[in-house]
Amino acid sequence: MNFSDLGLSASVMAAVEAAGYTTPTPIQAEAIPHAVAGRDVIGIAQTGTGKTAAFVLPMLTLLESGRARARMPRTLILEPTRELAAQVEENFVKYSINNNLNIALLIGGVSFDDQNRKLDRGADVLIATPGRLLDHFERGRLLLTGVEILVIDEADRMLDMGFIPDIERICKLVTKNHQTLFFSATMPPEIQALTENFLNNPVQVEV
Ligand code: AMP
Repeated sequence: MNFSDLGLSASVMAAVEAAGYTTPTPIQAEAIPHAVAGRDVIGIAQTGTGKTAAFVLPMLTLLESGRARARMPRTLILEPTRELAAQVEENFVKYSINNNLNIALLIGGVSFDDQNRKLDRGADVLIATPGRLLDHFERGRLLLTGVEILVIDEADRMLDMGFIPDIERICKLVTKNHQTLFFSATMPPEIQALTENFLNNPVQVEV
C-alpha cells in the first residue's frame, strides 16, 4: 500500500513527502480511505502506531473546501491530557504546512486570553482537552454547531480519567450531521457503549 492509494489531496501528499514518510503505517492504510470517504471510523490502535496522521491527513483533505467563521470551528480533536493535545498540535502543524488553517490549542493550566483571541479570529481546528473546551463553551466563547469532523482520541484513557460524562456532553453539543473518527487502544464496555450511542454506522479497523 502506498500513500498515493489512500485518496489524500495533493497538498497533503506534499506534506507527507516533506515529513519523509514513504509508506503508510498499518493504521493509516486501514483508516484513511474510510475517513476520506466520509465514514465514521473506530480505530483500535496504540500510541506510536502513526494514528495521529491517520486522523489528521484525511481531515486536512476534507477541510480543503470552505472556511471557518468566528467562534465556529470546523473540526474538534479531543485529547485526554495537555501533553497529548500539545503533541497533536505539533504534528498537525507539520502535516498542514500547505493548508492555510488556523489552529487553537485549548488546554488547561494556561490563561484564557490567548485562546480567546484565537477563537475570535476564527479557528478552523480546535485541539482540546474536554474540561477546557467546556469552560470556553460555558463562557459563550464558541459554538460547536459548525463542527464537521470530531476526533475522539485515546478514548480508553478518557475513561480512566473520568472524562466520559464530558465527552457525552460534547458529543451532544456538536451538530448531528458530522463525521466522527474515534481511536482507542482497547474497547472496554463503556467505550463500546459510547461508540454505539454517538457514531453513525462506523467502520472498525484494528492493528
Ligand atoms: P503517533 O502514533 O501518531 O504518535 O506517531 C508516532 C510517530 O511516527 C511520530 O513521530 C510520527 O512522526 C511517525 N510517523 C507517523 N506516520 C509515519 C509514516 N507513515 N512513516 C514514518 N513515520 C511515521
